[in-house]
Amino acid sequence: MLLTQQLPAQVSAGIITGKLPQLAYSNGADRLGSAKAGYIDTGILVKVVDSVQGNYTLQLSQNRQAYLAKNFVQPVADTLPMTTALMETWTVRGGVKYDTISIGLSRKIPYTSWMETSPAIIMVELYGVQSNTNWITQLQSAKGIRQVSWQQTENDVVQVRIELMQHQHLGYSIGYSGRRLNLVVTRKPEKASLRDFIVAIDAGHGGTNTGASGITSKVQEKDYTIRFARELEKLCRKKGMQVIMTRTNDSTIDNKDRLLYLNTYKPDLLVSFHLNSGGRSTVRGVSTYYRHVAFQPLTRSILNELLQIRDLQEFGNVGSFNFQLVQPTEYPSCLVEVAFLSNPEDEALILQQSFQEKVARKVYDGIRYWLKQLD
Ligand SMILES: [Zn+2]
Repeated sequence: MLLTQQLPAQVSAGIITGKLPQLAYSNGADRLGSAKAGYIDTGILVKVVDSVQGNYTLQLSQNRQAYLAKNFVQPVADTLPMTTALMETWTVRGGVKYDTISIGLSRKIPYTSWMETSPAIIMVELYGVQSNTNWITQLQSAKGIRQVSWQQTENDVVQVRIELMQHQHLGYSIGYSGRRLNLVVTRKPEKASLRDFIVAIDAGHGGTNTGASGITSKVQEKDYTIRFARELEKLCRKKGMQVIMTRTNDSTIDNKDRLLYLNTYKPDLLVSFHLNSGGRSTVRGVSTYYRHVAFQPLTRSILNELLQIRDLQEFGNVGSFNFQLVQPTEYPSCLVEVAFLSNPEDEALILQQSFQEKVARKVYDGIRYWLKQLD
């Protein structure tokens, strides 16, 4: 394969490369970046039709485009295949903890995927493909999968629908193994117990990334997120849970590196601690955040418990949040903005060790009640 230095202005091709490439819906860039359409595997040949600031515009199918940061596209001199790819046979099988849907394809093609709720469904959209799927083998071992089906929704787009037996999502991964696209879906354990759960705890900021600062005390967010994280760690370990900490000291760790680190441990859920800061010092309260609506129940449960703490007001439950640590589909996650460092009353709470302990206790209870609702 010939590698070229730069993409010419006209239509060209590239291969997706790098760590955690993430497709975006737009070129829009606020503080949190453009709205993400999900992570995508590497090694996929894509059509590049335009270049806008830091992004390339990818033509996924006749009618669908997406954006990808330029450092994730390796330009190639090869011409793109003129024909659409073919979707071939599938197999559906289960293991101890996961069920796997393996979709045969004539070559690696781009895709997006998302979760729907009530019932719990995983949708995958495949681009530049036509179906030649003439059978789908479904094995009894795939205990968590109710139904799989597909639909050719456009001339070169196929939608895959995977309906789960459980009513709540526990996460899934998607990626290629050779030319097969594999969806690995976490199945609800027969008896959900916190003892079997691996919980990842993230203390926001650290090192040179100091975060917000206290309005009267001038304390730094990074020094307090870790106190909440450590309190929760202590409690979870006492209860016999396995815990993974994204940081244990005052080091600078990029959010993407935190995700890559977590990927090696396959946690069952993630809680990330931050402390909020607002333009007006009167704004205060606790809030929890999710990106995928499928994971909202965890964030609601945690918020419900936190609101029982006296003096802690409600700032709310925030959805569709474009923060890197809540992007993964692999496990439910919750960002907790405990309170506002920019509000004097909230700040006074944050500084108290008894409050830090209470918050950890309530987050733990929130996880526990959420787990009960899985049955
Ligand atoms: Zn923060």
